[in-house]
Amino acid sequence: MTGGAVRKKTVRDVDVNGKRVLVRVDYNVPLEPESGNVLDDTRIKATLPTIEYLREKGAKLILASHLGRPEGKREPSLSLAHVGERLAELLGSPVKMTGCCCGPEVQAAAQALEPGEVLLLENLRFHAEEEANDPEYAKALASLAEVYVNDAFGAAHRAHASMEGVARYLPAVAGLLMEKELEFLGRAVAEVERPCAAIIGGAKISTKISVLESLLERADKLLIGGGMANTFLKAEGFSVGESLVEDEFLERARRVMERAKEKRVLLLLPTDVIVADRFAADAQAKRVSIKDVPEGWRIMDVGEMTVDVFAKALEGCKTVVWNGPMGVIEFGSFAHGSHRLAGVVANLKGATTILGGGETAAVVEQLGIAGRFSHLSTGGAAALGGAAMLAVGAAVLAF
Ligand code: ADP
Ligand code: MG
Repeated sequence: MTGGAVRKKTVRDVDVNGKRVLVRVDYNVPLEPESGNVLDDTRIKATLPTIEYLREKGAKLILASHLGRPEGKREPSLSLAHVGERLAELLGSPVKMTGCCCGPEVQAAAQALEPGEVLLLENLRFHAEEEANDPEYAKALASLAEVYVNDAFGAAHRAHASMEGVARYLPAVAGLLMEKELEFLGRAVAEVERPCAAIIGGAKISTKISVLESLLERADKLLIGGGMANTFLKAEGFSVGESLVEDEFLERARRVMERAKEKRVLLLLPTDVIVADRFAADAQAKRVSIKDVPEGWRIMDVGEMTVDVFAKALEGCKTVVWNGPMGVIEFGSFAHGSHRLAGVVANLKGATTILGGGETAAVVEQLGIAGRFSHLSTGGAAALGGAAMLAVGAAVLAF
């Protein structure tokens, strides 16, 4: 990196000799329903480089992960016991287990560790405090160790106690898997440069709201477009006609907007939109102010003014993360907003631009400008690509 950017810290940058190191891994692996055996150990194998590195350096390892959705209750079928067994096989040495992830028993087990030994805590989500990012719970986890390593790339976009919370109480660095994933997407060991903007679009708010909430804690600007903006617009009191809306998320959208105000994060919604009289490529269409969406019509794209406003907000941003198109790009007539915005992002000077998601990638591929972004994930499944990219965005910003 040039320009004096600070190198992102990894396990290589800290002295772990003789120290207890809490490593957040992603062992959310598929299990066989009957036996509970590990069906696919890719995620376990992926953590071996970090574990082996730390052991070589004389660390005492405490591994922590979630598995499935036990919703804060002890659910025996979601115990990490089988994962621990598989890990022990892969490491060729024993893995100690605890019946819980905090409390005196766990504290004692952590204190008793010798350099090179590995302790795997029980499923973090047996406690509702994990997903609630409860500070006391985060403190309890932090109290087990002297250094925190985040190697859970797949979960990195979640503001949970073991991810975001713990890092407040311990020196925090990235693991080797995290580093590799970030490098793979081109956004390696650099710290995020500000201002940082996140552009979120796409169809539905339900699939991205939690990522959006997590970005809200880290980005300086949030630009919301596409179908997902409709719920925000409705929450703001605008009539959106027949537009795609998820009423059950109105309240959450409201909270996001309040939080943005509190945090002084600039949150922008479309100010003008392209509406159509039906959901079709050859529908009758017109540009209207967001105040004037006609009854029976639906929002299909953002308008010129919105792109201008977004472009202005992006000016001078040093990091831009984008997932989800601004309109129904499948219909050429409603791809204009996304195309224009893609051009704006591509032309940003001196910014790291990170794009993800199947449809978002499709937009810039169509335009033949894919090469003009710093990092582009075309990822297999569109949704996965989006989630992964936003995870990267959040992960990059988390350190
Ligand atoms: P990505 O694959 O880049 O993550 P998504 O899958 O989340 O993006 O969203 C892409 C979809 O969002 C597209 O199919 C597009 O038609 C849809 N979309 C965007 N804007 C709207 C809108 N205003 N109304 C309905 N669908 C929309
Ligand atoms: Mg998609």
